Amino acid sequence: MRFAGKRAVVTGGASGIGRATALRLEHEGAEVWIGDIDVPNGQALADASNGRIHFVRTDVMQVADIAALMQAVDAAGGIDVVFNNAGAGGAREKIDAISAEDWDRTQNLLLRSVAMGIRYAAPLMIARGKGGAIINTASIAALQTGAAPTAYSVAKAGVLHLTTMAAADLSQHNIRVNAVCPGFITTNIFTSALGISGDKRDAANGMIGQVAAQAQPLQRAGAPDDIAAAVAYLASADASFVTGTHIVVDGGMTIGPRHSW
Ligand code: NAD
Repeated sequence: MRFAGKRAVVTGGASGIGRATALRLEHEGAEVWIGDIDVPNGQALADASNGRIHFVRTDVMQVADIAALMQAVDAAGGIDVVFNNAGAGGAREKIDAISAEDWDRTQNLLLRSVAMGIRYAAPLMIARGKGGAIINTASIAALQTGAAPTAYSVAKAGVLHLTTMAAADLSQHNIRVNAVCPGFITTNIFTSALGISGDKRDAANGMIGQVAAQAQPLQRAGAPDDIAAAVAYLASADASFVTGTHIVVDGGMTIGPRHSW
Protein backbone atom coordinates (compact mmCIF):
# COMPACT_ATOMS: atom_id res chain seq x y z
CA MET A 1 0.00 0.00 0.00
CA ARG A 2 2.72 2.46 -1.00
CA PHE A 3 0.11 4.98 -2.17
CA ALA A 4 -2.41 4.89 0.67
CA GLY A 5 -3.94 8.36 0.97
CA LYS A 6 -2.27 9.56 -2.25
CA ARG A 7 -3.92 10.96 -5.37
CA ALA A 8 -2.53 10.18 -8.82
CA VAL A 9 -3.20 11.48 -12.35
CA VAL A 10 -2.70 9.10 -15.29
CA THR A 11 -3.08 10.37 -18.83
CA GLY A 12 -3.82 7.75 -21.46
CA GLY A 13 -5.22 5.62 -18.64
CA ALA A 14 -8.05 4.06 -20.64
CA SER A 15 -5.78 1.52 -22.35
CA GLY A 16 -2.46 -0.28 -22.33
CA ILE A 17 0.38 1.06 -20.18
CA GLY A 18 -1.73 3.82 -18.64
CA ARG A 19 -4.55 1.45 -17.75
CA ALA A 20 -2.18 -1.04 -16.12
CA THR A 21 -0.51 1.76 -14.18
CA ALA A 22 -3.82 3.24 -13.01
CA LEU A 23 -4.85 -0.20 -11.73
CA ARG A 24 -1.45 -0.79 -10.10
CA LEU A 25 -1.50 2.56 -8.28
CA GLU A 26 -5.09 1.97 -7.20
CA HIS A 27 -4.21 -1.54 -6.02
CA GLU A 28 -1.47 -0.02 -3.86
CA GLY A 29 -3.87 2.44 -2.26
CA ALA A 30 -4.04 5.52 -4.51
CA GLU A 31 -7.13 7.32 -5.69
CA VAL A 32 -6.61 7.74 -9.43
CA TRP A 33 -7.84 10.23 -12.03
CA ILE A 34 -7.62 9.05 -15.63
CA GLY A 35 -7.44 11.65 -18.40
CA ASP A 36 -8.10 10.21 -21.86
CA ILE A 37 -10.02 10.82 -25.07
CA ASP A 38 -11.42 7.27 -24.98
CA VAL A 39 -14.64 7.90 -23.06
CA PRO A 40 -16.17 4.37 -23.14
CA ASN A 41 -13.06 2.58 -21.87
CA GLY A 42 -12.04 5.31 -19.43
CA GLN A 43 -15.55 5.52 -17.96
CA ALA A 44 -15.83 1.71 -17.77
CA LEU A 45 -12.65 1.54 -15.73
CA ALA A 46 -13.99 4.19 -13.35
CA ASP A 47 -17.39 2.49 -13.08
CA ALA A 48 -15.77 -0.82 -12.06
CA SER A 49 -13.55 0.74 -9.37
CA ASN A 50 -15.82 1.38 -6.36
CA GLY A 51 -15.12 5.10 -6.64
CA ARG A 52 -11.32 4.74 -6.43
CA ILE A 53 -10.73 5.59 -10.11
CA HIS A 54 -12.26 8.66 -11.74
CA PHE A 55 -12.44 9.52 -15.42
CA VAL A 56 -12.09 13.04 -16.81
CA ARG A 57 -12.41 13.32 -20.59
CA THR A 58 -9.08 14.93 -21.50
CA ASP A 59 -7.42 15.60 -24.84
CA VAL A 60 -3.75 16.14 -24.01
CA MET A 61 -3.37 18.21 -27.18
CA GLN A 62 -5.69 20.77 -25.57
CA VAL A 63 -3.98 22.78 -22.85
CA ALA A 64 -7.31 23.76 -21.28
CA ASP A 65 -8.20 20.05 -20.87
CA ILE A 66 -4.90 19.34 -19.12
CA ALA A 67 -5.35 22.32 -16.81
CA ALA A 68 -8.90 21.22 -15.93
CA LEU A 69 -7.73 17.66 -15.16
CA MET A 70 -5.02 18.88 -12.81
CA GLN A 71 -7.38 21.34 -11.14
CA ALA A 72 -9.95 18.59 -10.55
CA VAL A 73 -7.41 16.46 -8.68
CA ASP A 74 -6.10 19.46 -6.76
CA ALA A 75 -9.64 20.32 -5.69
CA ALA A 76 -10.12 16.74 -4.44
CA GLY A 77 -7.24 17.14 -1.97
CA GLY A 78 -4.03 17.62 -3.95
CA ILE A 79 -1.85 15.92 -6.54
CA ASP A 80 0.81 13.47 -5.32
CA VAL A 81 1.67 11.63 -8.56
CA VAL A 82 1.38 12.55 -12.24
CA PHE A 83 1.97 10.00 -15.00
CA ASN A 84 2.18 11.86 -18.33
CA ASN A 85 1.67 8.89 -20.63
CA ALA A 86 -1.01 9.46 -23.29
CA GLY A 87 0.20 8.95 -26.82
CA ALA A 88 -0.20 7.31 -30.19
CA GLY A 89 1.95 6.41 -33.16
CA GLY A 90 2.35 9.83 -34.80
CA ALA A 91 3.52 10.65 -38.33
CA ARG A 92 5.35 7.85 -40.16
CA GLU A 93 7.21 9.79 -42.90
CA LYS A 94 10.97 10.05 -42.99
CA ILE A 95 12.60 13.47 -42.57
CA ASP A 96 12.76 14.10 -46.32
CA ALA A 97 9.00 13.84 -46.70
CA ILE A 98 7.24 14.89 -43.50
CA SER A 99 5.02 17.97 -43.59
CA ALA A 100 5.35 20.77 -41.04
CA GLU A 101 1.76 20.08 -39.97
CA ASP A 102 2.40 16.38 -39.30
CA TRP A 103 5.62 17.24 -37.49
CA ASP A 104 3.79 19.72 -35.24
CA ARG A 105 0.92 17.32 -34.58
CA THR A 106 3.30 14.56 -33.47
CA GLN A 107 5.36 16.88 -31.26
CA ASN A 108 2.20 18.32 -29.74
CA LEU A 109 0.76 14.89 -28.97
CA LEU A 110 3.93 13.36 -27.54
CA LEU A 111 6.10 16.21 -26.23
CA ARG A 112 4.10 19.39 -25.69
CA SER A 113 1.46 17.29 -23.90
CA VAL A 114 4.07 16.16 -21.36
CA ALA A 115 5.47 19.67 -20.96
CA MET A 116 1.98 21.03 -20.36
CA GLY A 117 1.15 18.18 -17.99
CA ILE A 118 4.09 19.27 -15.86
CA ARG A 119 3.33 22.95 -16.42
CA TYR A 120 -0.22 22.68 -15.08
CA ALA A 121 0.42 20.17 -12.28
CA ALA A 122 3.60 21.69 -10.82
CA PRO A 123 2.23 25.04 -9.56
CA LEU A 124 -0.57 23.21 -7.74
CA MET A 125 1.91 20.74 -6.22
CA ILE A 126 4.25 23.57 -5.24
CA ALA A 127 1.44 25.54 -3.59
CA ARG A 128 0.41 22.45 -1.62
CA GLY A 129 3.97 22.06 -0.33
CA LYS A 130 4.06 18.27 -0.10
CA GLY A 131 6.42 17.50 -2.96
CA GLY A 132 5.41 14.70 -5.30
CA ALA A 133 6.45 12.57 -8.24
CA ILE A 134 6.04 13.10 -11.96
CA ILE A 135 6.75 10.28 -14.39
CA ASN A 136 6.78 10.70 -18.15
CA THR A 137 6.49 7.98 -20.78
CA ALA A 138 9.38 8.18 -23.24
CA SER A 139 10.46 5.14 -25.28
CA ILE A 140 13.51 3.20 -26.38
CA ALA A 141 12.90 5.18 -29.59
CA ALA A 142 14.44 8.10 -27.67
CA LEU A 143 17.68 6.13 -27.42
CA GLN A 144 18.14 4.44 -30.79
CA THR A 145 17.02 4.47 -34.41
CA GLY A 146 14.92 1.65 -35.81
CA ALA A 147 12.35 1.46 -33.02
CA ALA A 148 9.89 4.05 -34.38
CA PRO A 149 9.59 6.76 -37.08
CA THR A 150 11.55 10.01 -36.87
CA ALA A 151 8.97 12.47 -35.55
CA TYR A 152 7.92 10.06 -32.79
CA SER A 153 11.53 9.25 -31.84
CA VAL A 154 12.53 12.92 -31.69
CA ALA A 155 9.51 13.74 -29.53
CA LYS A 156 10.39 10.93 -27.13
CA ALA A 157 14.02 12.12 -26.98
CA GLY A 158 12.58 15.51 -26.10
CA VAL A 159 10.60 13.89 -23.30
CA LEU A 160 13.86 12.59 -21.81
CA HIS A 161 15.55 15.99 -21.75
CA LEU A 162 12.35 17.67 -20.62
CA THR A 163 12.43 15.20 -17.74
CA THR A 164 15.93 16.24 -16.68
CA MET A 165 15.19 19.96 -17.05
CA ALA A 166 11.91 19.71 -15.12
CA ALA A 167 13.68 17.70 -12.42
CA ALA A 168 16.16 20.54 -12.05
CA ASP A 169 13.45 23.21 -12.11
CA LEU A 170 11.33 21.47 -9.48
CA SER A 171 13.96 19.92 -7.19
CA GLN A 172 13.74 22.77 -4.68
CA HIS A 173 10.12 21.78 -4.11
CA ASN A 174 10.93 18.09 -3.58
CA ILE A 175 9.04 17.24 -6.75
CA ARG A 176 10.88 14.40 -8.47
CA VAL A 177 10.62 14.00 -12.25
CA ASN A 178 11.63 10.79 -14.00
CA ALA A 179 10.84 8.91 -17.19
CA VAL A 180 10.28 5.35 -18.27
CA CYS A 181 11.47 4.00 -21.63
CA PRO A 182 9.36 1.02 -22.67
CA GLY A 183 10.56 -1.41 -25.29
CA PHE A 184 7.93 -3.20 -27.37
CA ILE A 185 4.95 -3.68 -25.09
CA THR A 186 1.82 -5.48 -26.22
CA THR A 187 -0.88 -2.81 -26.27
CA ASN A 188 -3.28 -1.48 -28.90
CA ILE A 189 -0.87 1.26 -30.02
CA PHE A 190 0.42 -0.67 -33.03
CA THR A 191 -2.94 -1.96 -34.22
CA SER A 192 -4.42 1.53 -33.77
CA ALA A 193 -1.61 2.99 -35.92
CA LEU A 194 -2.30 0.32 -38.57
CA GLY A 195 -6.05 0.90 -38.45
CA ILE A 196 -6.78 -2.64 -37.17
CA SER A 197 -9.68 -2.89 -34.72
CA GLY A 198 -12.57 -5.13 -33.70
CA ASP A 199 -12.29 -8.93 -34.05
CA LYS A 200 -8.96 -8.79 -35.85
CA ARG A 201 -7.20 -6.83 -33.11
CA ASP A 202 -6.29 -9.63 -30.69
CA ALA A 203 -4.76 -11.83 -33.40
CA ALA A 204 -2.79 -8.87 -34.79
CA ASN A 205 -1.57 -7.91 -31.31
CA GLY A 206 -0.44 -11.52 -30.83
CA MET A 207 1.51 -11.53 -34.09
CA ILE A 208 3.16 -8.19 -33.33
CA GLY A 209 4.05 -9.51 -29.87
CA GLN A 210 5.74 -12.58 -31.37
CA VAL A 211 7.86 -10.44 -33.68
CA ALA A 212 8.76 -8.12 -30.80
CA ALA A 213 9.70 -11.06 -28.57
CA GLN A 214 12.34 -12.15 -31.05
CA ALA A 215 13.95 -8.69 -30.96
CA GLN A 216 14.20 -8.61 -27.17
CA PRO A 217 16.91 -10.71 -25.48
CA LEU A 218 14.50 -11.87 -22.76
CA GLN A 219 12.52 -13.37 -25.66
CA ARG A 220 9.03 -12.41 -24.62
CA ALA A 221 6.69 -9.58 -25.45
CA GLY A 222 6.62 -6.87 -22.82
CA ALA A 223 3.35 -6.47 -20.92
CA PRO A 224 1.77 -3.22 -19.68
CA ASP A 225 2.27 -4.49 -16.12
CA ASP A 226 6.06 -4.51 -16.71
CA ILE A 227 5.92 -0.75 -17.22
CA ALA A 228 3.37 -0.17 -14.45
CA ALA A 229 5.78 -1.77 -11.96
CA ALA A 230 8.58 0.62 -12.94
CA VAL A 231 6.28 3.63 -12.84
CA ALA A 232 4.98 2.60 -9.41
CA TYR A 233 8.56 2.39 -8.16
CA LEU A 234 9.42 5.86 -9.50
CA ALA A 235 6.20 7.26 -8.04
CA SER A 236 6.79 5.73 -4.61
CA ALA A 237 8.87 6.67 -1.58
CA ASP A 238 11.18 3.79 -2.56
CA ALA A 239 12.53 6.21 -5.18
CA SER A 240 12.68 9.24 -2.88
CA PHE A 241 16.32 9.98 -3.89
CA VAL A 242 15.77 9.38 -7.61
CA THR A 243 15.14 12.32 -9.93
CA GLY A 244 16.03 13.49 -13.44
CA THR A 245 16.65 10.04 -14.84
CA HIS A 246 14.91 7.23 -16.71
CA ILE A 247 14.40 3.49 -16.42
CA VAL A 248 14.61 1.38 -19.56
CA VAL A 249 12.14 -1.53 -19.47
CA ASP A 250 12.73 -3.33 -22.75
CA GLY A 251 13.64 -6.96 -22.15
CA GLY A 252 17.22 -6.00 -23.01
CA MET A 253 16.45 -4.74 -26.52
CA THR A 254 18.76 -1.73 -26.30
CA ILE A 255 21.74 -3.90 -25.32
CA GLY A 256 21.49 -5.71 -28.64
CA PRO A 257 20.45 -9.18 -29.80
CA ARG A 258 20.92 -12.29 -27.68
CA HIS A 259 24.42 -13.73 -28.10
CA SER A 260 24.72 -16.95 -30.06
CA TRP A 261 27.97 -18.02 -28.38
P1 NAD B 1 -2.50 2.46 -26.05
O1 NAD B 1 -3.00 2.80 -27.40
O2 NAD B 1 -2.90 1.14 -25.46
O3 NAD B 1 -2.86 3.59 -24.99
C1 NAD B 1 -2.70 4.96 -25.31
C2 NAD B 1 -3.83 5.74 -24.64
O4 NAD B 1 -3.61 7.13 -24.90
C3 NAD B 1 -5.20 5.37 -25.19
O5 NAD B 1 -6.13 5.15 -24.14
C4 NAD B 1 -5.58 6.60 -26.01
O6 NAD B 1 -6.99 6.82 -26.07
C5 NAD B 1 -4.86 7.69 -25.27
N1 NAD B 1 -4.67 8.89 -26.08
C6 NAD B 1 -4.23 8.97 -27.36
N2 NAD B 1 -4.24 10.25 -27.77
C7 NAD B 1 -4.71 10.98 -26.72
C8 NAD B 1 -4.94 12.36 -26.52
N3 NAD B 1 -4.77 13.27 -27.50
N4 NAD B 1 -5.40 12.78 -25.32
C9 NAD B 1 -5.62 11.87 -24.33
N5 NAD B 1 -5.44 10.56 -24.46
C10 NAD B 1 -4.96 10.12 -25.64
O7 NAD B 1 -0.92 2.55 -26.16
P2 NAD B 1 0.25 2.35 -25.07
O8 NAD B 1 1.24 1.47 -25.71
O9 NAD B 1 -0.27 2.03 -23.74
O10 NAD B 1 0.88 3.85 -25.08
C11 NAD B 1 1.10 4.60 -23.90
C12 NAD B 1 2.38 5.38 -24.03
O11 NAD B 1 3.47 4.47 -24.12
C13 NAD B 1 2.47 6.28 -25.27
O12 NAD B 1 3.05 7.51 -24.91
C14 NAD B 1 3.41 5.51 -26.19
O13 NAD B 1 4.08 6.36 -27.08
C15 NAD B 1 4.33 4.88 -25.17
N6 NAD B 1 5.11 3.73 -25.60
C16 NAD B 1 4.51 2.56 -25.94
C17 NAD B 1 5.29 1.47 -26.32
C18 NAD B 1 4.69 0.14 -26.70
O14 NAD B 1 5.42 -0.74 -27.19
N7 NAD B 1 3.41 -0.09 -26.49
C19 NAD B 1 6.69 1.59 -26.38
C20 NAD B 1 7.27 2.80 -26.01
C21 NAD B 1 6.47 3.86 -25.61
